[in-house]
Amino acid sequence: MKHLVIVGGGITGLAAAYYAQKSAAAQGLDLAITLVERGARLGGKIMTDTPDGFVIEGGPDSFITQKPWALQLCRELGLDDQLVGTNDARRGVYVWRKGKLRKMPDGVMLIIPTRFLPFATSNLISWPGKLRMGMDLFIRPRQDDSDESLADFIRRRLGREALDVLAEPMMAGIHVSDAETLSLQATFPRFIETERKYGSLVRGMIAARKAAAAHSRNGAGKTSVFMTLRGGLQALIDALADAFTGTIKAGRSVTGLERAGDGYALTLDDDTSLHADALILATPAYVSADLLRDQSAELAGMLDAVRYVSTATVSLGYDAATFDHPLDGFGFVVPRSEPTRLLACTWTSSKFTHRAAPGSVLLRAFVGGPRREDLVDLDDAALIGLVRDELRQIMGIRAEPLLARVFRWHRGNPQYEVGHLQRVDRMEALCPPGLYLTGSAFRGVGIPDCIKQGQATAQAVIDYLRQAEPARMGS
Ligand SMILES: Cc1cc2nc3c(=O)[nH]c(=O)nc-3n(C[C@H](O)[C@H](O)[C@H](O)COP(=O)(O)OP(=O)(O)OC[C@H]3O[C@@H](n4cnc5c(N)ncnc54)[C@H](O)[C@@H]3O)c2cc1C
Repeated sequence: MKHLVIVGGGITGLAAAYYAQKSAAAQGLDLAITLVERGARLGGKIMTDTPDGFVIEGGPDSFITQKPWALQLCRELGLDDQLVGTNDARRGVYVWRKGKLRKMPDGVMLIIPTRFLPFATSNLISWPGKLRMGMDLFIRPRQDDSDESLADFIRRRLGREALDVLAEPMMAGIHVSDAETLSLQATFPRFIETERKYGSLVRGMIAARKAAAAHSRNGAGKTSVFMTLRGGLQALIDALADAFTGTIKAGRSVTGLERAGDGYALTLDDDTSLHADALILATPAYVSADLLRDQSAELAGMLDAVRYVSTATVSLGYDAATFDHPLDGFGFVVPRSEPTRLLACTWTSSKFTHRAAPGSVLLRAFVGGPRREDLVDLDDAALIGLVRDELRQIMGIRAEPLLARVFRWHRGNPQYEVGHLQRVDRMEALCPPGLYLTGSAFRGVGIPDCIKQGQATAQAVIDYLRQAEPARMGS
């Protein structure tokens, strides 16, 4: 029997465990799997708290369905009846700009306007800014295949104002990153494809909108762009853990790793050890760097060089009767040029039903990121006070919250800087046989990409163990 050890029980490690178990069974490989997780609970950044009838997400609150891997896994795990989409009656996002919440015009797809009238009449972008965005129709596509930053790309095609007001808060914001350093290839490859195919982002997005409309006219069921689970995303973690029949060592850290024959010897923080024929590190890059320092200084150095930033989420629940804002949207984002200490705020109970207790509303503010990491270390009372001050100014909310929850994510957000994918290729090439790096530091931070990586890594491990088998039997 072979032994696979997976280090890290976030969504990537759990998905790898689940798919390795499934694939080994399908291919008749006799495999024992051990998952080691430092925390007492599984899930890593996926964490749901349910106080007093609220459903509060500490980390992610939903996943995108255009990347199918999370939706597929939920269905496979029998979670269909718990899947919920966004509340489209309240669709809409605001941008806090020059002292006002200004609505994103209808027809904007991935920050690109696809309808003339709502864009022309919107007060979000100035007329010179709109005209500059329109130049996208005439600017020749870039011929060079090298990576560039999101900021360079947007400035080149749509202009400076589109970068400041739309791309930086909406797109770099998803990655909690600085648009000036964020790799376009690693984060928004669709933009590169659209530029190449249509010669213009506006033309490409209009074509995408028409194709989507034709798709739903042809009777195809409409799937919400973002989905979640009714009781919170922790249900996905629980379902994965239930489906996994291997060994889970929660509350245990891997502290040492060395080669042992064709495999690896791992030391745990209780001084026990594990032998692994194959090993998956689904840990943050800086943890993997420490574990691999004695194996390859170059690999450890590259892992160390993956930068992380810290954020905090602050959720506030209110009695709807004392709350005098219509919450007619999913929330707002803040461009970096605005002097507020919030990155964004999701109007959670508008975006998804079932998130607030009956008669209540729920908001979630984001603090920290590349420019204000220091705020993450404020104590809970100071962070809640800061968020309430900002919401008073931006939304006019004076009501006392019924409850407040703070979650801090120190070094929680890996930064995909220009050239990221080329560095990941190199890191993977440097891995010794039977050792695999996976997770949000590498090929996508969103839940669907983490699941995809877990699945692909599991398949690579099974292929490796199956190849190794006959060689050793013959020797
Ligand atoms: C605030 C926030 C909001 C987000 N919102 C969204 C969203 O809405 N939608 C979306 O798709 N994505 C979102 N993301 C991104 C997404 O949540 C993460 O990228 C993803 O959950 C990371 O999963 P992972 O398994 O790769 O890493 P992690 O969840 O970080 O898991 C790694 C695990 O390794 C464990 N570990 C570390 N060291 C050791 C050790 N030595 N031994 C054993 N175990 C160890 C850790 O305890 C941890 O559990 C968000 C992220 C944050 C921080």
